Amino acid sequence: MIKLKTAEQIEAMREAGRVSAKALRKTGELVRPGISTLELDRFAENLIRMEGGIPAFLGYGGFKGSICSSLNDQIVHGIPSREVILREGDIISIDVGAIIGGWVGDNAATFAVGEIDPKTRRLLEVTEQCMWDAIDAARSCNRLGDIGHAVQSRAEGAGFSVVREYVGHGIGRSMHEPPNVPNYGHKGQGLKLKSGMVLAIEPMINLGTHRTRGPFEDHWTVFTEDGSPSAHFEKTVAITDDAPIILTAE
Ligand code: MG
Repeated sequence: MIKLKTAEQIEAMREAGRVSAKALRKTGELVRPGISTLELDRFAENLIRMEGGIPAFLGYGGFKGSICSSLNDQIVHGIPSREVILREGDIISIDVGAIIGGWVGDNAATFAVGEIDPKTRRLLEVTEQCMWDAIDAARSCNRLGDIGHAVQSRAEGAGFSVVREYVGHGIGRSMHEPPNVPNYGHKGQGLKLKSGMVLAIEPMINLGTHRTRGPFEDHWTVFTEDGSPSAHFEKTVAITDDAPIILTAE
C-alpha cells in the first residue's frame, strides 16, 4: 500500500534528505585517482553519524557499506572495498542515504574520475538530465508512466538505453516502499500520482545495451551485459499540489 505523507511528515523528511545530500556532495568531492571505495564509504558513514543520522544502507539486506559504489560497467549496488582503487578515466556512481527521526533519504550521482571519454561524459550529462525531466513529471496531475516516459525518451533520444530490472521506489519510514517507479513507460499510463507521495527517482542509463548481468558471487553488484558504462542519478522527491519538492537538498 502506498503511504501518503502529510505536509508535516514531508517537512520531517527534509532533515534525512539534507544529510543524505550533504553526504553525497562531500563524498563526491573526494573522488580522485588513487582513493579506494572503502575510504569513500568510511567518509560518508562518518559524516552521516556526525550529523546525527544512521547510514540507511549499512546492514540493509546484509549490505556491508554505507554507500553503494558502482564503477564503469557496474550499474548499481557495488560494494565498497579497500581493493577497489579509482583510476583516471573511471566513472563511479555513489548512492547514499541517511535515516533521521525514523525517516529515510536516498540519493545518488555519478562522478568522473579525472578526465573521461567524451561519450561517457555525454552519458553522465544525459542521465542527470533524465533525472531532472523525471522530477519535472512528478506532479499530481500526472501518472507514473509520465515519469518513465520522460526518462526513456530523453535517454533513447540520445542513443542510450534504459535499465529495466532496477527502478525507483516510494520512500518514507522504509527505504523501499511501493510504488515501483520504472524509468520507462508511456505517457498518461499507470498509477495516478498524488500529492503526498514521496518517490526516489533514479534513472539508470547504459551507454550500450539495456540488458544487465549479475549479481554474481558478491550477491550485490549488477553489471551491464555488454560491459559498456552505466550512469545513475537519484533524488528523493515529494509530490505536492504544486511543483515537486526535492527532499535530498541542502
Ligand atoms: Mg534508491
